[in-house]
Amino acid sequence: MRPAYASLDAPALRHNLAQVRELTGARVMAIVKANGYGHGLVWVAKSLTGADAFGVASLEEGLELRAAGIQQEICLLEGFFEAAEIPIILREGFTPVIHDHHQLEALRRVRSENRCDAWIKVDTGMHRLGFGPAEVPAVAADLATLPFIGRLGLLSHLACAEDFASPVTALQIEALGGLSLPGFRRSLANSAGIMGWPAAHADWVRPGLMLYGASPLGRTGPQPPVALKPVMTLRSRLISVRRRKEGDAIGYGGDYRCREDMLVGVVGVGYGDGYPREFRGAVSVLVRGLRAPVIGRVSMDMLTVDLRGVADAQVGDEVILWGEGLPVEEVAQAAGTIPYRLLCGLTQRLPRRECP
Ligand SMILES: *Cc1c(COP(=O)(O)O)cnc(C)c1O
Repeated sequence: MRPAYASLDAPALRHNLAQVRELTGARVMAIVKANGYGHGLVWVAKSLTGADAFGVASLEEGLELRAAGIQQEICLLEGFFEAAEIPIILREGFTPVIHDHHQLEALRRVRSENRCDAWIKVDTGMHRLGFGPAEVPAVAADLATLPFIGRLGLLSHLACAEDFASPVTALQIEALGGLSLPGFRRSLANSAGIMGWPAAHADWVRPGLMLYGASPLGRTGPQPPVALKPVMTLRSRLISVRRRKEGDAIGYGGDYRCREDMLVGVVGVGYGDGYPREFRGAVSVLVRGLRAPVIGRVSMDMLTVDLRGVADAQVGDEVILWGEGLPVEEVAQAAGTIPYRLLCGLTQRLPRRECP
């Protein structure tokens, strides 16, 4: 078997959920869209029996969870995209987020015996989805006339929460708090809101990235008192180890040239698995717990590493690309991207394996 795989740690996932509970005391909608941030939608949901609800991006993801026997509330974070989805939402008892007038119009045409709860998306400053605060009372009144709509809530999304110096978050908290709709449950905080903005916690929090053990905050600056554990470790093995001569060029384009005789390893993982290839800064992997810098271009199925710092490196040695001992945030930073992108970007061919 090809040696590349992602090992998954269910206790770490549950530990991170417990950290959310410790920080907030709110109800928790675990965000599992995009295949559970690359970890496997059903695996994540089944491992998080303690979550109060799950948040997904589409009806398809919601149906996959129901088919796997998930009983909790399932929130469709973008509601529905076309009216044909509404009867299925009602049948399954999903909770759609209603963010636009076209959705209200479609709902007005519905007749149904089934019922569902719904969230009204409030645009408090993100300016992506949602009704402006001034529109919300009318939207709420409109939805209240529909006999198949149960409990209503107000949901908004933070635009700048990972920047503790930004004035935007306080304004967003104030805008949501300023809506006087008694009895409506409220939700505002994503991971950064949970970690950095207690005033944003409200009734329901919506952690995504932090559940998977990564932080949306920069690696410099104040860090909140939360100890997250990485859920995924991307692993492979050395499939070749060779001594190269001074002046040898390594890999496609010959970008890297050896400045001395040195040991170079080939790791069985590449961009075809979702490992990035567009690095701006230096990045390392772990071999025998020691750092080995990635050198030359990353190929589709392989990459090359400088083994000068790893005594006795041998073919078959395990290599960690991110996860245990090497934060995915660090790899993302070197790649000029965000940890979300790396986790969601793992490709289908990479096996995910739960490891006890
Ligand atoms: C993806 C998403 C989240 C989770 O965000 P994280 O930064 O991963 O915690 C929360 N709320 C909404 C509406 C989302 O789309």
